[in-house]
Amino acid sequence: MEQPKIIPDLTPEGREKARKTLWEKAKTNALSCKGCALAATRTNVVYGEGCEQSRLMFIGEGPGADEDAQGVPFVGRAGQLLTQILKAGGIDRKDVYITNIVKCRPPENRVPTPEEMIACDMHLQTQIMLMDPALIILLGNTPTRWILKTNEGITKIRGKWFNWRGIAVMPMFHPSYLLRNASSKEGSPKHLTWIDIQEVKRTWDIVRETGSTSHIKFG
Ligand code: URA
Repeated sequence: MEQPKIIPDLTPEGREKARKTLWEKAKTNALSCKGCALAATRTNVVYGEGCEQSRLMFIGEGPGADEDAQGVPFVGRAGQLLTQILKAGGIDRKDVYITNIVKCRPPENRVPTPEEMIACDMHLQTQIMLMDPALIILLGNTPTRWILKTNEGITKIRGKWFNWRGIAVMPMFHPSYLLRNASSKEGSPKHLTWIDIQEVKRTWDIVRETGSTSHIKFG
């Protein structure tokens, strides 16, 4: 008997429909994840928030108490500062996607363990694959070390673009660090973050206009 021919719909609309379906499945799967010990102490899985079609993604470390309570990333004090930094740079939070390396709160806000990051990596990698961002901003040391596999400190490599699997990745200071270092005089972490967010906005604008990252200077 002749097999029916299945022609995949590879139009932009067809791809978007497939992407959406897979995104929802991946999210549903993550929301009931018991892949590591953090599942036992979490209130909510904090999958991520924002526009999944955006070319710009922000990755933090892991949910804190407020995020765990609400199921939304970066809503506590550090999150409010992140929203302000984005706004100051001319970026509306709802136009980007924000997530974390681990989706469940580490108790006492400790740094996630390698085992927890490994267990959660499939969720993050699925998000990156389905979102296909052109630019990823890594907030602080933990996501920078995890993604770029480097031991360089954030102070040394913040503000630089790195080519990670064809995606332009930039480390920036974590907003919690900025809360602990309030000075905004020249050369301070706050001042450097202001420079970095302007670079992110400038680059993102060109990506949106041209669809390309070929203008980015790496390293
Ligand atoms: N810090 C993070 O790294 N992520 C959050 O979601 C909140 C605070």
